[in-house]
Amino acid sequence: MDGYDYLIVGAGFSGAVLAERLASQLGKTSLVVDRRNHVAGNAYDFHDDAGLLVHKYGPHYSRTNSDEVINYLSQFTEWHPVHYHILSWTHGDYWPFPINLNTFEKLIGKNASPAIMAQTLAAWRHDIPSPKNSKEVVLSQVGTRLYEMFFENYTRKHWKRDPSELDPSVCGRIPVRTNRDDRYLSDKFQAMPTEGYTAMFEKMLATPGVTVALNTDYREAKADIRHKHLIYTGMIDEYFDYTHGDLPYRSLHFVPETHDVEFYQPTVQVNYPNDHDYTRIVEIKHVTGQQHAKTSIVKEYPQDFERGREAYYPIPAPDARERYQKYRQLAKTEPNTLFLGRLATYRYYNMDQVVATALTAFQAIAEKDPTSTTPDLANPES
Ligand SMILES: Cc1cc2nc3c(=O)[nH]c(=O)nc-3n(C[C@H](O)[C@H](O)[C@H](O)COP(=O)(O)OP(=O)(O)OC[C@H]3O[C@@H](n4cnc5c(N)ncnc54)[C@H](O)[C@@H]3O)c2cc1C
Repeated sequence: MDGYDYLIVGAGFSGAVLAERLASQLGKTSLVVDRRNHVAGNAYDFHDDAGLLVHKYGPHYSRTNSDEVINYLSQFTEWHPVHYHILSWTHGDYWPFPINLNTFEKLIGKNASPAIMAQTLAAWRHDIPSPKNSKEVVLSQVGTRLYEMFFENYTRKHWKRDPSELDPSVCGRIPVRTNRDDRYLSDKFQAMPTEGYTAMFEKMLATPGVTVALNTDYREAKADIRHKHLIYTGMIDEYFDYTHGDLPYRSLHFVPETHDVEFYQPTVQVNYPNDHDYTRIVEIKHVTGQQHAKTSIVKEYPQDFERGREAYYPIPAPDARERYQKYRQLAKTEPNTLFLGRLATYRYYNMDQVVATALTAFQAIAEKDPTSTTPDLANPES
C-alpha cells in the first residue's frame, strides 16, 4: 500500500471526523481501516430484508447542546427533528420514563401538581449531600420506591454490577422532572440524520485524500501500511497487547424481529427493568421517519464481554478506571500516535462528545504546525 500522512484505525465518529478534517482543511492524506465490513462504527445503520432502516448496534439517538457539533455534522446530512420517548414496563403496565409528573400521578393514583410532586420527593429522597455512586444518586433524587421500580434491576441487568458499584453519572444522567416533559433527553438539538448515519459517514469519507479499507484489522495490516502518524480509536488494551491485563467491558446481544404491523409498541424504546432477560425493546422506526407497512424491532440482551466479542461499554467505575490509567501512561509515550474515542480513551462518551473531542484534537494538530509532517500529536483527553 502507498504511504499516507495518517493511518486511522476505526471508521466511527472519531476516525471519520479526523480523516475528513485533515483532508479538507490541511490537505493531508489518510487511510482509514476498519475491521468491520462497513463504516460508521457503532452508529452504523442499514436497510434490513424488509427494507426498514435499522441500527445494527443499538439505537443511536442524536442530540447535543453544541452548536459546533451541529454545524459540523450538518455539512454532511439534513436532519429529521424528533423527540425520543421511552416507556418502562414494570408491575404489569407501561410507565412514563424518565420519571416525571405523569409517572408520579400514576404511582399515587390521583392528580398532582409539580409542587406536590416536589414536596413528596423531598420527603422520599434520602439525605445524601454528595452521592458517591449511582445508587446514592438515585436515592438522593427520588428515594427507595422509585429506585427499586426503575433503576436497581435495570442497572444490574445491563452492567452486571450493583448501582452502588458504578459512577454517579451512570444513573445520574437520567433526568427527574416534576413537570409533564416526558422526553428522554433534554438537549436543545434532537434530530436524526434524514438518510441515516451511514449515508452521513459516506459523505464525510468521500472527501478527496481519504481512502477507506474495510475488513482490515490494524494488527494484521500495520506492517504493510506506510504512514507518518497513527490515529487509533480501537480498544486501548488490545493495542498494547493486554500488557496490564484485560480492561473490563460490557457487551450486548441483539435479537431483531420483523412484524407485519405498522408499529409494534407505543414508543421507540420500552425498558424492562424487572421482567425478561432483555433490558429493552427498540423500534427505531418511531424516530427515523420512515413510512413502511411493516416494522422491525430489536430485543437487547446484555452479555459478558470476552475477547472476540464487541466491547460496547467501558465500565464507568473506579476500579476499571484505575486499570485504564496504566494504559493511559503507556499511550503517552507512544510516538506520533493519538488515542481517540470511546474505546481508546475508555470513556462512556455519547456521539456528540466524541465529535466535539475529535474536532478539538484536529484543532490541536492544526494549530501546532499545520504544514509539519510530524506534528506532536497531543492526546485531547484531560
Ligand atoms: C448500544 C449503544 C447505544 C448507543 N446509543 C447512543 C445514543 O443513543 N446517543 C449517543 O450519542 N451515543 C450513543 N452511543 C455511543 C456511540 O456509539 C459512541 O459515542 C460512538 O460510536 C463512539 O465513536 P468512536 O469512533 O469513538 O467508536 P466506534 O463507533 O466504536 O468506532 C470504532 C471503530 O474502530 C474499529 N476498530 C477497532 N479496533 C480495530 C482494529 N484493530 N482494526 C480495525 N478497526 C478497528 C471498530 O470496528 C469500530 O468500527 C451508544 C453506544 C452503544 C454501544
